[in-house]
Amino acid sequence: MADAVSLTFPDGSVRGYAAGTTGREVAESISKSLAKKAIAIALDGELRDLSDPVVTGRLEIVTREDARALELIRHDTAHVMAEAVQELWPGTQVTIGPVIENGFYYDFAKNEPFTPDDLPKIEKRMKEIIQRNKPFTKEIWPRDKARQVFADKGEAYKVELVDAIAADQDLKIYYQGDWFDLCRGPHMASTGQIGNAFKLMRVAGAYWRGDSNNPMLTRIYGTAWRTQEELDQYLHILAEAEKRDHRRLGREMDLFHFQEEGPGVVFWHGKGWRVFQTLVAYMRRRLAGTYQEVNAPQVLDKSLWETSGHWGWYRDNMFKVTVAGDETDDERVFALKPMNCPGHIQIFKHGLKSYRELPIRLAEFGNVHRYEPSGALHGLMRVRLHAGRRACVLYRRANGGRVPAHQRPDPVGLSGLRVQGSRRQAVDPSGKACR
Ligand SMILES: [Zn+2]
Repeated sequence: MADAVSLTFPDGSVRGYAAGTTGREVAESISKSLAKKAIAIALDGELRDLSDPVVTGRLEIVTREDARALELIRHDTAHVMAEAVQELWPGTQVTIGPVIENGFYYDFAKNEPFTPDDLPKIEKRMKEIIQRNKPFTKEIWPRDKARQVFADKGEAYKVELVDAIAADQDLKIYYQGDWFDLCRGPHMASTGQIGNAFKLMRVAGAYWRGDSNNPMLTRIYGTAWRTQEELDQYLHILAEAEKRDHRRLGREMDLFHFQEEGPGVVFWHGKGWRVFQTLVAYMRRRLAGTYQEVNAPQVLDKSLWETSGHWGWYRDNMFKVTVAGDETDDERVFALKPMNCPGHIQIFKHGLKSYRELPIRLAEFGNVHRYEPSGALHGLMRVRLHAGRRACVLYRRANGGRVPAHQRPDPVGLSGLRVQGSRRQAVDPSGKACR
């Protein structure tokens, strides 16, 4: 047959099918029970709808036992949550609803933001929608139709999303009953396949497209699992983590506190500071004999930060310091250091150095200040003042710029040691000038 499709199954067997055969039909050809359990197919490893026609390649029939089922369950649950919300609060606009680690969220445009009290009501309606067990079906729409339909429904955000899809890409609409959403898919066969192992977790505010110049949307986070046991276990782990939340321990054990006048800066209490100093002492022992410990100023003239590049790139994240008195005519602008290294460079530059002294390893338990958006502050994990355990290794370039192994930074393995805040240097933009 010229139009035959050749499928290779996980057990290595190969079977031919007529062109246009769907994943569901393939599952039925294997066994009735498999077809019943099937929620999707994977073609050459890529998840697709059960209703998609198969093409020549490696085919797997995906069931709930498959680890990839989680992704499908969470995605479908997000759609069901959006339907529930629009049923309960007509006129609410849906925006985007991706799957994330351990769950999903959906952002809604609604005049009155959701409150935690709304969640049980939404969950109840979601269970009803799941019970209705409507099939997920897919349509490909022309761009103009999609724009028109969403515009007529008052879904301005969806119109924006339609416009953002590349011209050469299909515009897919997934239905569950009468409710539909613009979506890349894939989905399971019907809402009934979701099951009831889900829970709505919390509400939050989120800017449209993550941009603070855009309108604030209202977000609902949820989690969904294959079985009730999986859900229970996840909730148990969360509860245990909550008991050990460092912010809670800090309060209960009288280690530290935060207060309104100092957003993102820590008031260390006696016991907490002892823990802190014990860690510092441990690090000093590890540094001894390898690094010279130095200490550079906390406040330095703006010109130095211009040279280092921080002023140009990261000024928005820096604290500016000027003289407070009225009588002084000193109008110099200083900044609190956001990073230790520029200070280390000054120490290195001071006086003549011989290449024989290289590599020079400098370490500092310096305090660095960075202006973090207030929404990003999180206990000791995300602060505005942190002790930057910073080591600079100044070495001589040789071998075409490659650094010999013995001269590489961190020969004592301090990168495994983390004091508050240092972990986030990998993602902090102000770290880039100094890597
Ligand atoms: Zn979707």
